[in-house]
Amino acid sequence: MSQTHSSTNSYLARGSSGRTRSIFTEAKGPISPMIEVCERENVELIPTVYGSPDSKGRVLNESYYSMLVKILEGLEKAKPYDGVLLLLHGGGATEDEDDLEGHVLEQVRKVVGDKIPVVTPLDMHANIGPKMMRYGSFFCGYDTYPHVDGYDRSAEVTQLLIDTIRGKIKPVITYAQPNMIITPVMQKTGYYPMKTLIEKAHEIEKEPEILSVTVSAGYPYADMPYPGVTMIVVADGDKELAQRRADELSKLCWDLRLDFLARVVPMNRALDIALAEPSGPVILTDQADNPGGGPPQDGTIALKSMLDRGVKNACVAVMRDPEAVEKAIQAGVGATVTMSIGGKTEPWNGAPLEVTGYVKRISDGKYMPKGPMSRGVPREMGKTVVLNVRDIDIILTERSQQPTDLALYSSLGIDPTGYKILLIKSCVHYRAAHEPIAKRIIEIDLPGWHGTRLAAFPWTKLKRPVFPLDAEALGISELMTS
Ligand SMILES: [Zn+2]
Repeated sequence: MSQTHSSTNSYLARGSSGRTRSIFTEAKGPISPMIEVCERENVELIPTVYGSPDSKGRVLNESYYSMLVKILEGLEKAKPYDGVLLLLHGGGATEDEDDLEGHVLEQVRKVVGDKIPVVTPLDMHANIGPKMMRYGSFFCGYDTYPHVDGYDRSAEVTQLLIDTIRGKIKPVITYAQPNMIITPVMQKTGYYPMKTLIEKAHEIEKEPEILSVTVSAGYPYADMPYPGVTMIVVADGDKELAQRRADELSKLCWDLRLDFLARVVPMNRALDIALAEPSGPVILTDQADNPGGGPPQDGTIALKSMLDRGVKNACVAVMRDPEAVEKAIQAGVGATVTMSIGGKTEPWNGAPLEVTGYVKRISDGKYMPKGPMSRGVPREMGKTVVLNVRDIDIILTERSQQPTDLALYSSLGIDPTGYKILLIKSCVHYRAAHEPIAKRIIEIDLPGWHGTRLAAFPWTKLKRPVFPLDAEALGISELMTS
């Protein structure tokens, strides 16, 4: 970006069409505030390229480098400018790079040099490595999980960048890492103990010398040296103060470590509790098969338990199975079909289930979120079917889709509040829209890539010892069993 005295919309002529701009500004996602703040501050924003992958395994080198080259070429071509505003997640890895964002920042520095600020907002699941801290100027990470402050954090980092360019502030960044990985189900910012950390971060942010504080919870399923918690403090000039505050936050996190251990409920026990509730919906969360963190979303263990127990008036949101969807569509609405659903990807997520049900709905899978997450950003689940099996509505989709918005249900003509039990394949993001309708929420314990059984993961690069995997080596095993 560069400071300009031309009209506020002049940058739109430089590569960003009006249509593109309206998609980003209407969606109120992390890009719209960048545009809005720059317009307000009369700063020219020169776009390069935007892309966003699904959460899965490592990004293929070919895809990564094709994007990186576009960014670097854009930066070269746009020279001169006063600062670089990136939009990085923070938890990426490629076939070759454990720290995707660190690598991006390193390459950007090669093009732009050491003098100008290079900044980005970060997702709360950023895994902060030394490269990011070395090559980035400062970051503002999300304070919320479910992530509902993407707009605010982008606005914040954009404003801080402009203030830096104009010489109003001199940001310095430090970080501290308690030696901990935290399972995502315990990263909910609305609840203790994560809430306590976020409140402390906000308290520190009130100090006049402090510009921004981030508690990055980390994405523990990335096999990299440090997929754990990181405290980032950005101060105006005073690096020692920033380091002190980062260390204090880090110590607080370490002191709370036992309370970060997951408390999840075995499936059958969860069903006992749910069935004993006088009314619904009781939400059971299969976070182990949460597609937002990479799993295939076709796990069958929880659904099998529900069918075995004869559960009635329930809904499964969502199970991805393109083959089953195709068969149901072939049969048509109202037809009764017998087929196998789910269990086609990961053996430890359960076997395919042989079911007979009737095809209740067929849809193109398109809907428009209206709730706190991704409002106005169109969603596409691919071809979608509601298959009713013994009074359980199973939403079968062609593509993965984390149920984070109630418009998903209404687009299929079903009412989530009418069910006794809702089985949701999501970890925390579902809460933004579902907490207001839930009579009770039970987080269930299942195997799966996004589950809480961290010790079972085939770690190869994780720096050890780390809590909670190596409690004995860290001298705290007695605490854990007391
Ligand atoms: Zn996240």
